[in-house]
Amino acid sequence: MASTLPMEVILMLGQTIEKVVPITIALAILFSVLTHFWACNGAVSWWRKRELVTDVVYWFFVPVFGRVVRIGLLVLGAGVVFNIHDAEALIAFYENGHGPLSHLPLWAQAVLFLVLSDFMLYWMHRLFHAAGFWKYHAIHHSSEELDWISAARFHPVNLLLGTIGVDVILLMAGISPNVMLWVGPFNTFHSAFVHANLSWTLGPFKYLLATPVFHRWHHTVLEQGGNTNFAGTFPIWDILFGTFRMPVGRLPDGYGKDETTIPTEIIGQLAFPFRR
Ligand SMILES: [Zn+2]
Ligand SMILES: [Zn+2]
Repeated sequence: MASTLPMEVILMLGQTIEKVVPITIALAILFSVLTHFWACNGAVSWWRKRELVTDVVYWFFVPVFGRVVRIGLLVLGAGVVFNIHDAEALIAFYENGHGPLSHLPLWAQAVLFLVLSDFMLYWMHRLFHAAGFWKYHAIHHSSEELDWISAARFHPVNLLLGTIGVDVILLMAGISPNVMLWVGPFNTFHSAFVHANLSWTLGPFKYLLATPVFHRWHHTVLEQGGNTNFAGTFPIWDILFGTFRMPVGRLPDGYGKDETTIPTEIIGQLAFPFRR
């Protein structure tokens, strides 16, 4: 029998793009309106960004890549760690989670997933700012015109040892994949939000939830204090571990200028870490 795998990958590609398009249009309208009133850095509208094509390609490539690799790793993990190999047993194993964590109410599993994944990603993010790993993460920091559409610009190695790896660990630990119904849309919206060109700090809530100003400080050049604000969602990690930075009465400016040799198109960026 001929393999149906190529057909399945094409179908998955179609399904993912079908899902991503309406979300993208909604985000584009929302952030265009918000930026009109509350821009952090006046400069250019996101649709006039010089590297718009690069960001759009990442925007669609990353969800497809993430989905295929996540499924692959979950299947591999179940085989290696739990000795589960046939398709039916695999589905039963992951369908509603397994073990003690899966007995918690779904909302509690979702909260646990958000907090645990954010804690792990904080440390992975710090690792990616260290010498041997920076070349992969530098791609994310190469956006000079930072906006919501820049949120997906990540090298695959960064994704693998970042969000994808952490998702796989938590699902293998037993949390139900059904939490993704809430966590997925929240993460998509929130990661676009923190990259958006907005002057929002959310007042006292700046300690509770990562904001555009919080994350834009992270994207500033090193001499401006770029090595701060590593948390993706909850700034509590930066407060606890001494990397929090939100200068009062100032807005961040000047992004992605530490690495001047990074190509501006995606193929060059994917090859960049291996050419050094
Ligand atoms: Zn970073
Ligand atoms: Zn970022």
